[in-house]
Amino acid sequence: MNTNKHMQAVTLSWLLGTAAFAGMSLAPFPSLAEETVPSQAAEQAQGAEVPLPAEGYAARLEYHKANKADLRLAPIQANDRRKAVPNDPRPPAVLEPSVMLPALPAGMEGTVRRVEVANGEKVCALTFDLCELATVTTGFDADIVTWLQDKDIPATLFMGGKWMRTHAKRVRAIMRDPLFEIANHAWAHGNFGIMTPERMREEILYAQAQYELLRKEAIEEAGRIGVYDAGIPPVPRFFRFPYGRCCDASLKMVNDLGMRAIQWDVVAENGGRGNASLAQGREVADRVKPGSILLFHANLVPNGTFQLLRYVVRELEQRGYRFVFVGELLQMGKPVVSRDGYFLRPGDNRALDARYGIDGTGR
Ligand SMILES: [Zn+2]
Repeated sequence: MNTNKHMQAVTLSWLLGTAAFAGMSLAPFPSLAEETVPSQAAEQAQGAEVPLPAEGYAARLEYHKANKADLRLAPIQANDRRKAVPNDPRPPAVLEPSVMLPALPAGMEGTVRRVEVANGEKVCALTFDLCELATVTTGFDADIVTWLQDKDIPATLFMGGKWMRTHAKRVRAIMRDPLFEIANHAWAHGNFGIMTPERMREEILYAQAQYELLRKEAIEEAGRIGVYDAGIPPVPRFFRFPYGRCCDASLKMVNDLGMRAIQWDVVAENGGRGNASLAQGREVADRVKPGSILLFHANLVPNGTFQLLRYVVRELEQRGYRFVFVGELLQMGKPVVSRDGYFLRPGDNRALDARYGIDGTGR
């Protein structure tokens, strides 16, 4: 118990102190066909969870397994390194997506921390944030993604819109593998607890628009190289607040723009600068419950995430857990929501407001 408390304290100080490097995360989840969008909205209005037909989920995994050799990403490259790509502070080439999702019912406001799984099944969601601030470019840990591909482990990737542009080629390749659910992590990691409504809307829609641009390119590219070209969702349907910071206005904004806010109940990385240890993997696994949502980063911040991930997954598999997308998890039970986003306990990220302002942990 004391050990856990200590590690949680370490985690928190890292998140608050070095979030400047962690300012990015990933995006939304795919359904198999654009035509499903209106009916999904109708189901939600009737109180059903975010829809992702079970057969669609199974079909996605099946497609991945059958085509994994073609879908596998290239190993880490020079441009994947942090700051390797020059920063471009301009907004995306298109400012609003052509697909605007219908608003969700007011009752779906709130940010999902985990899901109360109906039968207590040992299932959880691995999520990876790909954060990027307005002032600097961040990296991409291809080793994490190829390892997930090799092991057929689905994951939800919360991508910053600006990060998507910085790593456009990588994003197109990820989009083609339905093993991954792409979600929205805002354009440039602004603070949704304190920014203006106009800025909030931009942060959300810029990322949707950038996704759409890359989706179009990914489909064209797929046609040329002869791989997946028919299953990339039109726009992300999940959103993650940078640092978890939100407020009544931002919760309503996300809801009105048709996205479900997704957070986490397990912060995996503890900010260590070196390699992760097996003990650390066990400590993370100790905090996982059925329906947990785990937060990692795949933008090469911090060091050691890939090794930690392998320890955590191995430990959880030994304990009988399997892994699903956030979209699938939401269908397995009742979401546990909060109106106050936070890392480990309510209010623990509010110090960021005064420290960094609306631009998040920029420098
Ligand atoms: Zn982030």
